[in-house]
Amino acid sequence: MPAQIISGTEIAKQIRQELKQEITELKDKHNLIPGLVTVLVGEDPASQVYVGSKVKTCDALGVYSERYDLPAETSQEELLTLIDKLNKDRKIHGILVQLPLPKHINETEVLYAIDPKKDVDGFHPVNVGKLMIGEPDYLPCTPHGIQQLLIRSGVKIEGAEVVVVGRSNIVGKPIANILIQKKEGANATVTICHTRTKDMAFHTKRADILIVAAGKPKAITADMVKEGVVVIDVGVNRIGKTPEGKAILCGDVDFDTVKEKAKAISPVPGGVGPMTITMLMLNTVKAAKVSAGLA
Ligand code: NAP
Repeated sequence: MPAQIISGTEIAKQIRQELKQEITELKDKHNLIPGLVTVLVGEDPASQVYVGSKVKTCDALGVYSERYDLPAETSQEELLTLIDKLNKDRKIHGILVQLPLPKHINETEVLYAIDPKKDVDGFHPVNVGKLMIGEPDYLPCTPHGIQQLLIRSGVKIEGAEVVVVGRSNIVGKPIANILIQKKEGANATVTICHTRTKDMAFHTKRADILIVAAGKPKAITADMVKEGVVVIDVGVNRIGKTPEGKAILCGDVDFDTVKEKAKAISPVPGGVGPMTITMLMLNTVKAAKVSAGLA
């Protein structure tokens, strides 16, 4: 049987419709408009694209947005002063500092400076810690998007053997942490692989659910998975350009061969990508509700 394609585009659309309705109600009943600010330092083209899509999604859903595009030579002090101002701004419920920052700025210090109540990325250590103890205010966007892809595709997570390839702070570790929680949509047994894992295929072949966030094009091939696996491919690799100059993307999974063995698989593009921004919107709405005592 052909693999079910787990479409992030479709699932993100459903969630955005739900959010749009909630945002309209917040405005009508409570005169509350969720507000997100994006802060970009420098001119990294990929970051500019990401920030552009975040602002566009805010507009589409009725979220108020502000955008700060700062020159690459902005000092850390100037950035911290701006964050302090935004922490106090009542129109702003979520603050997103686009990473990576230029090398002369200490990313950790900047992320620590964001008020945890406005940390809609879920990267502040307070929010990381709350996730660890199973009491999260904000789940980090990409891992939360992955969990939603699985739940809304009807994949049974409870009791499943989940193997995560990658241990970054923004994807690998938090998705493992989310899926081991004693909660609905979790309760999985999770293994994390990384570059020092001795025999990665040994682990990936055991997976009922395989989540790959390595940043290595087609690192997972059909011989590394079992029949009936559910695969979530987080990787986004630029492997060339079309004659029109558009980036050609591929994931970390060899989609064409792995889909022949998989029960379900998410594509790249159109898988995890659209979910990340959607979860950012969900966190911004939550932050607005918390600020108004509605959540
Ligand atoms: P990262 O910080 O570079 O981490 C990559 C992880 O994968 C590391 O833990 C690394 O192990 C591990 N790894 C790399 N090659 C491996 C291999 N051959 N075998 C086993 N483990 C390997 O990357 P990231 O930020 O987590 O992102 C991963 C991918 O997801 C990237 O392609 C990124 O663009 C994509 N991404 C997509 C979204 C989205 O919204 N769609 C969001 C975030 C990230 P070590 O720790 O041992 O080095």
